[in-house]
Amino acid sequence: MNGRPEVRITEVRGHVLLAPDSDASLTSSAQDSFLVVIDTDAGVTGVGEADVNPWIAKACLSAPGTHTMGRSLQEVLIAQDPRETDELWRRMYIGSAMNGRRGAVIHAMSAVDMALWDIRGKLAGQPVHELLGGPVHERMRPYASLQPVGTSFEEYRDSLCEWAARACELGFQAVKAEVTMSGPYAHSGLHESYDRHTEVVAAVRDTIGPDVTLMVDVQYMWPDAATALSVLRDWEAFDLYMIETPVWSDDLDGYAELAASTSIPVAAGEWLATRWEFEALMDRGRIAIAQPDVSRVGGFTEAMIVARMAEERGLTIVPHCWKTGVSSAATAHFAFATSACAFIEYLPPQLCVETLRKELAQDNIRIDGGAIVPPTAPGLGVDVDWDAVRRFEVG
Ligand SMILES: [Mg+2]
Repeated sequence: MNGRPEVRITEVRGHVLLAPDSDASLTSSAQDSFLVVIDTDAGVTGVGEADVNPWIAKACLSAPGTHTMGRSLQEVLIAQDPRETDELWRRMYIGSAMNGRRGAVIHAMSAVDMALWDIRGKLAGQPVHELLGGPVHERMRPYASLQPVGTSFEEYRDSLCEWAARACELGFQAVKAEVTMSGPYAHSGLHESYDRHTEVVAAVRDTIGPDVTLMVDVQYMWPDAATALSVLRDWEAFDLYMIETPVWSDDLDGYAELAASTSIPVAAGEWLATRWEFEALMDRGRIAIAQPDVSRVGGFTEAMIVARMAEERGLTIVPHCWKTGVSSAATAHFAFATSACAFIEYLPPQLCVETLRKELAQDNIRIDGGAIVPPTAPGLGVDVDWDAVRRFEVG
């Protein structure tokens, strides 16, 4: 068919990886990983990663089912042509529909889809962004995503400022400060007043000066839009590029209220799965900046649909990524093929404490003059350290 040689999927493996120093009281999803490895009869192997509880993802991938629409993803994939990414996405979605249609099932599918595109690129001898339509940016600006450490207000503030300064020294022209000392995502059990959050944002802005782009992520901290607005009024003076996830993910009317009431662009979408969840966030939530995560939204296949939706609506894309080098590389390929993309989240190995980010895979991302250069290696272009996979595997 099509004059091209047949290629078939022969094996799909899910690896549950855990950092030996992981601490469940922390709020970093980079302490574990779900890595999917797909083999083909052409001798080409693809890798993908999901940002979700890896034990749950493994069940989505390989648990037995007793219904034609309650199947594992693996059952759908074996013996199929890995290059048929649209058709395989559809079959996985329909075949697993009774398992949830959203959330963990789609996150697990994201790792599969990422691995399929890695295979497609390797078979074609092209980087994934070429197969997604080709690069529409000469360079892509990364922002350094900074999650502070520390168990007191002072430690938290000082660690954040120290890392912000180091990010600037490394050449980053944009940083995102996670300023979350209250609410469901509060770091290290902290519970501080909103005034102290304002103090931290001011300290980071002072540290980096007026010319570096500053974003702030409060991780669903405020209970409602009115409370968020009462604080954001003070933050308008800090010239923020965006405020990320100010209220709970399902509070779409709260997002719309904020969008209408603050001059700071509102960003959200890191947890979402599928185009349909983004449609609601964009059209009812009225966000300015959509943050699909390739390792959650449904892989490249679905992320590109969300990118087109943003482009149609005149919205900006700033993809979320908080995983290992596999996802960092995937995010870069997605960004280069997306005209609405303004920045990518980048967790610099030098500026984080996560063992898996440092040791699992080389993303081979090249940063030149503070900006990322389009990757050139076939597929994702990542080098997975298979010894590290064996070392960290727990299931
Ligand atoms: Mg976030």
